[in-house]
Amino acid sequence: MSNITVCARFRPLSSRERRDYGDSICIQRIDDETFSLKDEKEGDFKFTFDRVFYETSEQVDVYTFLARPIVRDAMKGINGTIITYGQTGAGKTYSMEGVNILDCDEQKKGLLSRVIDGFFEDISSSGESIKYTIKLSMVEIYMGKVRDLFDLSKDNIQIKESKSEGILLYGVTKIPLLDPAEALQKLSHGLDNRAVGETQMNMGSSRSHSLYIFTIQQEMNKDIRGKYGKLILVDLAGSEKLEKTGAEGRAFEEAKTINKSLSALGNVVCALTCGPTGRGNHIPYRDSKLTRILQDALGGNSRTALLCCCSPSPSNAAETLSTLRFGARAKHIKASPNIESNEDKHAKVLIAPSPTEDDSRDRTL
Ligand code: ADP
Ligand code: MG
Repeated sequence: MSNITVCARFRPLSSRERRDYGDSICIQRIDDETFSLKDEKEGDFKFTFDRVFYETSEQVDVYTFLARPIVRDAMKGINGTIITYGQTGAGKTYSMEGVNILDCDEQKKGLLSRVIDGFFEDISSSGESIKYTIKLSMVEIYMGKVRDLFDLSKDNIQIKESKSEGILLYGVTKIPLLDPAEALQKLSHGLDNRAVGETQMNMGSSRSHSLYIFTIQQEMNKDIRGKYGKLILVDLAGSEKLEKTGAEGRAFEEAKTINKSLSALGNVVCALTCGPTGRGNHIPYRDSKLTRILQDALGGNSRTALLCCCSPSPSNAAETLSTLRFGARAKHIKASPNIESNEDKHAKVLIAPSPTEDDSRDRTL
């Protein structure tokens, strides 16, 4: 069964939220794993996750808890996925990229550059006996199409399956990473391309999923076949509800496509974490390109971390609630009405019952 860590992260109030709503926030910390949330319409809720990162938490805390163990395993040939989920403006890209991938002080560095540092730390501590080759591909999924961020002419990459590499993106550019500084230059180049592509297509970055795919090939010696690991970091498109965006025309189609793929992701993670269901062992990877690409990084002997990014402002409480419910469902924990218990905290999310919970799942997942 797949192994998933689910965390929540609250960013500080934005200046706009402060201006319009003052300093009030809709969450109350209980401890490092549990908090309560107040929504004016739906009431009070209590959530427990593997870890909660509050407004004052540092980028390094997120990396150390959520990503470092997965990086270590990827170096040993265990596939992994790290996903940021949440409404637009909730802190997904900040968590993933930091402020600026090249010009970022140590404190603000995001997961991507820390993951790269982690790879090279592990390489230098592994000694001479194993040779590692790390490669990076960057793609974006927009309106159901996969685009190569290292080569914008490859704008409809097909997904295939191979015996040696598992799920692969056919013809995607793979850039070998030689050292951390050079790796960041490459990443930055891909990010610049993303901006160019988005301008060409008149699309905002929050309307597409960005995927950073690291492959780690080990070469032991001529006789022993080395292991192959894959680590995919995913900065998802904004999860805001369709009706709230008031979208029409193309924006409406974009939102529908996004909701469908996020829903497919929720279903896959849920099926993986709850084991056999009424549908047997079927895991619906093929329901979206996103889940198909993530298939072997999510399933089998793999590790997944989901970071649910949220605003702490009362003005965003409904979206925050929906994001947290996605996290709860990913962990596949049944909603338990107001039960307070100390047993197995890590496996429990307490959600007060709400008549709209099922509808809300349907809408947001
Ligand atoms: P998203 O990618 O979810 O749409 P962003 O990561 O772009 O959202 O965050 C929106 C804004 O909030 C950005 O200006 C970002 O720098 C800021 N921000 C997000 N999270 C934090 C945080 N933990 N600490 C400080 N600023 C943050
Ligand atoms: Mg973003």
